[in-house]
Amino acid sequence: MKKLLFLDQTGKSGGAELCLLDIAKNYRSSCLVGLFEDGDFRKRLEQHHIPVRVLAKRSIAVRKSSGAIAGLMSLGQLIPLAVRVATLSRQYDAIYANTQKALVMGAIASRFSHRSLVYHLHDILSPEHFSNTNRRLAVLLANRAKLVIANSQASRDAFITAGGNPALVEVVYNGFEIEPYQTEARSPIGLEGRFVVGHFSRLSPWKGQHVLLEALKYCDEKVGAIFVGDALFGEQDYVQQLQQQVQQFGLGDRVKFLGFRNDIISLMKSCDLVAHTSTAAEPFGRVIVEAMLCGKPTIAAKAGAAPELIDHGINGWLTTPSDAKELADMIESCRQNSQETAKIAAIAQQQASQRFRLTETNAQIHQYLEARL
Ligand code: UDP
Repeated sequence: MKKLLFLDQTGKSGGAELCLLDIAKNYRSSCLVGLFEDGDFRKRLEQHHIPVRVLAKRSIAVRKSSGAIAGLMSLGQLIPLAVRVATLSRQYDAIYANTQKALVMGAIASRFSHRSLVYHLHDILSPEHFSNTNRRLAVLLANRAKLVIANSQASRDAFITAGGNPALVEVVYNGFEIEPYQTEARSPIGLEGRFVVGHFSRLSPWKGQHVLLEALKYCDEKVGAIFVGDALFGEQDYVQQLQQQVQQFGLGDRVKFLGFRNDIISLMKSCDLVAHTSTAAEPFGRVIVEAMLCGKPTIAAKAGAAPELIDHGINGWLTTPSDAKELADMIESCRQNSQETAKIAAIAQQQASQRFRLTETNAQIHQYLEARL
């Protein structure tokens, strides 16, 4: 078993962090997770007895859209952190960077400590998600790694299009523990008597909560929605925009915003359908697989990895991103053809529980690390 220093820039539990949590469980006795920010994710790692340390005093100020100047200005913050990571990494076989800023730190540190670098790519490195500077930097540094693990074919393709070395990349889908999905437990959501569409994502413009709100306008009055997730990265303007939309469309008694929750499975089980409405390419879309594992009919926007997870009309449905009317028609069609819909959801549940097993994902990662490091 390799000794790994995992690095992640955030203390919040986003998709990349939940994926890392599951991988690190396999390396608990020989790893450390270094975070550049404290938060809920640190607590989750501790709950699972995974060694974790917060390495930075303040979170790093550079964003996905930042250019070179903002990057240079943050050097005062980055250099001490890189030194800390380099020193620490000498106790490990490899640095495993799980996010972009972790890649930057990991690449610098690995130069000094002569440790191998692994990059787990959870992003689509395209202009719609990243500034040119950040894209170029990510590819330049990732090309120095021994192994790049892409979370989907879509992420792999975007990496190569941006100049990434194809020989470095292996695609490994996120894995899930299947047993918790077998529960019959349901969380109360307070929309009794309605056909409930669930939306499970952090509140962010490209996650497209506004598209589902607009779709509700075209659906029957009986259709309501819950929005589970918070503005993890400060998107307060968007939260206000969503609230205005609810007022403007008169959806007050059909919609609930539940904030960030840890009972995702029992909330999903309480829904009649799950909608995933990203307006830009989704790198993987854990929520899509989670909905399938819950046995819920799943509609996802056709972009990024969604078509790798869903075969339209076979195990779910795909819609044109940002097309609220098409989404509404699809929701209505599922609602009105409940028997056919249930059959498709059952197929999805069965397929997903074969295809996205955590044991398989962890075995693949272990195998690639042993082969490449
Ligand atoms: N999630 C959660 N609580 C919430 C909202 C989302 O635990 O309130 C989880 C969700 O179940 C999923 C992850 O956050 O596992 C989001 O991952 P995804 O790949 O869908 O999107 P990302 O956040 O990586 O863009």
